[in-house]
Amino acid sequence: MRKYYTLLPALCLITLMTQGQQIKKSEVKRILSTLAADDMQGRETFKPGAEKAAAFLEKEFAAAGLQPLAGDNDFRQSFFQYDTKPVQQELILNGQPVDGRVFVTGVESKISWTQDTQVEIAHINAGDNFDNKVRELKRAPRNTLVWVDNAQAEKFNQFAGGLKQHGGSKQDSTATVVFVLKQDVADDAGKWSVQASQEVTRLPLCNVAGMLTGSGKPDEYVIFSGHYDHIGILTPVEQDSIANGADDDASGVTAVLMLAKYFKKHPPVRSILFVAFTGEEIGGYGSRYFSRQLDPEKIVAMFNIEMIGKESKFGKNSAFITGYERSDFGQILGRNLESSVFHFYPDPYPEQQLFYRSDNATLARLGVPAHTISTTQIDKDTLYHSVNDEMESMDLDNITSIIQAIATSATSIVDGKDTPTRIDKAAVSSRR
Ligand SMILES: [Zn+2]
Repeated sequence: MRKYYTLLPALCLITLMTQGQQIKKSEVKRILSTLAADDMQGRETFKPGAEKAAAFLEKEFAAAGLQPLAGDNDFRQSFFQYDTKPVQQELILNGQPVDGRVFVTGVESKISWTQDTQVEIAHINAGDNFDNKVRELKRAPRNTLVWVDNAQAEKFNQFAGGLKQHGGSKQDSTATVVFVLKQDVADDAGKWSVQASQEVTRLPLCNVAGMLTGSGKPDEYVIFSGHYDHIGILTPVEQDSIANGADDDASGVTAVLMLAKYFKKHPPVRSILFVAFTGEEIGGYGSRYFSRQLDPEKIVAMFNIEMIGKESKFGKNSAFITGYERSDFGQILGRNLESSVFHFYPDPYPEQQLFYRSDNATLARLGVPAHTISTTQIDKDTLYHSVNDEMESMDLDNITSIIQAIATSATSIVDGKDTPTRIDKAAVSSRR
């Protein structure tokens, strides 16, 4: 079955040696140490440190010879997130004002709806999983009024209370969704009106993205990505308060840049998108915005790279792939590495749900074979999300060999010879 890939060992050795010379450890060190430096202040989204990291990445994308994405003039993919604070919410059912039975998600500052307003109507019924339904409905594409069965009152109040306590919530949706807790089964059949106002603040943020156009299949895309944001400043530990995020995820962004340089020298047949996402640590906002700008059907594969700074539990020259069994992506990568010492393993921590905890999840939900490559020993990594995730703990030789392995393992996909099977959307859609 594998004969297509049975190359002469000597030939492979030469190939690997040539490729080995392409990913330079000194360059890995330069980029990683810049991103993880104290002056980046932990690269927290919306803070000057993240802005500084974005500016650095823009320069590096230009120097690597990438082009902006189609329709863009530069490497910044700018968008907004909205901070909302409820001011007033009033519900009238059959002529009677009703207290505490309404909450609003969305970014409109004023809404005034009645049963005659053109909005979608949805329901959360007694037997529904409340959290899943809310998650799904909050992303509704059109303005929607949701009638919630009174049997869900406890969950409803928890959710509404949470929104109030945190002074509203960060939003990136475009539609307004109003949730109304029914008192009576027939409430939705009668007359109703909702008046609400909220304070809305627009917060700018950006991904950094560039591309190489494929020579033979330019309309098919392969993505290499990592997230440049991190968690900023923490409570000081021994005078240090900066969470440098060297492993999480300066290491992955370094890989993205090194792969950009590599594929510039090895021009691909399919187009390649290189992306450094923002907002991962606060909910995956960058990858969500990014995925909405693309047709998922045209994306052949996503290599998301997250925390490759230290040895994996399988030792040197190894990494793991999240959601390995959900497509044949991992098998293809493995075949391309048959004559190398490097090995990709299935994710050894399925209970940690890592497949859902990084930027691959958004595109995976849309059916794209989108996986995260990582070496984290997440079950015992004491440096994770601490002020000690810094340059000193990085294994530069290992990182360099992982980036080389990713380049080699991706060859048949970027060259249009292999197309990974799609991920089953239905099996992932119900998660965050
Ligand atoms: Zn991360």
